Formats: sequence, structure tokens, C-alpha cells
Amino acid sequence: MSPLGPLSDQAQRPEAWTARSAVAVCAHPDDESFGLGGVLMALRREGTEVSLLSFTHGEASTLGAGDGPLDAIRAEELHQAASVLGARRTDLLAYPDSRLSTVPLEVLAGHVEALATEVGADTLLTFDLGGITGHPDHQRATEAALQAGEQLGLPVLGWALAAGVAAALRAETGVEMVGRVPSELDIELTVDREAQQRAISCHRSQLGGNTVLRRRLELQGATEHLRWLRRPGALSVAPA
Ligand SMILES: [Zn+2]
Repeated sequence: MSPLGPLSDQAQRPEAWTARSAVAVCAHPDDESFGLGGVLMALRREGTEVSLLSFTHGEASTLGAGDGPLDAIRAEELHQAASVLGARRTDLLAYPDSRLSTVPLEVLAGHVEALATEVGADTLLTFDLGGITGHPDHQRATEAALQAGEQLGLPVLGWALAAGVAAALRAETGVEMVGRVPSELDIELTVDREAQQRAISCHRSQLGGNTVLRRRLELQGATEHLRWLRRPGALSVAPA
């Protein structure tokens, strides 16, 4: 039995994938809950060990800025959420929020590689290409996960939004999100939103007025999608 059943029987789809140990590669505290939380809890439910990496403390957020030092507040929120998610280990780094693109990719990927090696990861999980919301930090996290996957020969799963969900959000809220048509999606999961909500609620500083999050979760219902950004068994490009 695998939590990661194929979306359909179409050719080119990999066999069901069972992750033993997964590292979630994120940019900000709350990405692991607001975005990947449903997927991570589904993995945990099926026995996959989960570890978290956030490259920044999320100190540039416009939400919660009047509550005190955001870096410290958000660090505490992440550790609470990690506990709810049942994470084995959480690496919270202190690269500059909103300026991850200024950090050399090999430096960021090196952190992913170190964590993945230490926890014996067989799968990396991150944002879909485009970062879902288009946030440059999310896109950088995906680049780092892909580079680490290449270096370690590990598969990389991207958390993806269905095109219909993205289109509805765009129409209702004006927020642009990257959506994928069914042929671009590899894995469909049924998730427990109530459980995810317990992780989300740890990020109190980021919840005020977050109507896009609430509406996205409504539109998604109990369904999440993933796509392979680097497939299991993909050959590494030999270093020059
Ligand atoms: Zn984020």
C-alpha cells in the first residue's frame, strides 16, 4: 500500500511511490503548514518520516509586523507547527526573507543535501515550478531542492495546484497562482484538512485576513496534487 497512488492509468506514470523519509524544502515558516501541510500529514499517516527545512524566518511578512520581532515569533510558530506535523527534525535557517535569490544556489542546496543525508531521506518535497504563488523565495526553494535532488540522486515531488482551483482563486481574489492541468499532475492524495488546520493555527501571526488561504483550502476540498519535478530513478547529470 502506498500513500502516493497514481492519478490515473495513463502511460508514463510511475508506479505508486512509497516514501520512507521525506524532507520538505520551504522558504518561510508557514509554507510547511499553509501549503504542504495536508500532504505532509497524509505522508505521516502512512508512516513516512517527515523533516522540515525553512531557509528564512519569514521576517519580511507584512502580516503580524506589529506583534514584536517577527523572526523570533515565526521561529516559535514553526516549531509548534512542526510538533503538530510530527516532524522528526526541523532546520530553520536565517537567510534573508524575500531575498533568497541573492544566496548562491549551491549554498542553499548544500543545506538540503546535509539534512537529507542526515535523516536518510529518499524523497524531497517542495513547491511546484513557479512557486505556486510566484513568490521568488518559493521558486528559489524549488531550485535548491532540484539541485540537491540532482546531487543526491533523489526524486523531487512538487506540491501543485489544479488548474481549476488556481483559476477560481484568480477570478475571486485577483491573486495569480500557478495551476496545472490533469496531464501535468502525477499523484492525487486525499488529505485531512482538520488535521492540517491544527498546524495552520500555530502560525497565529500570519492568519489575520488571510482570506486567500481559507478560500484555497475550500476550493481544494480534501484533494491535493503532486507532480514529479525529478522522477524516481532519473539519472544524474555527471558533473563537468
Ligand atoms: Zn512562503
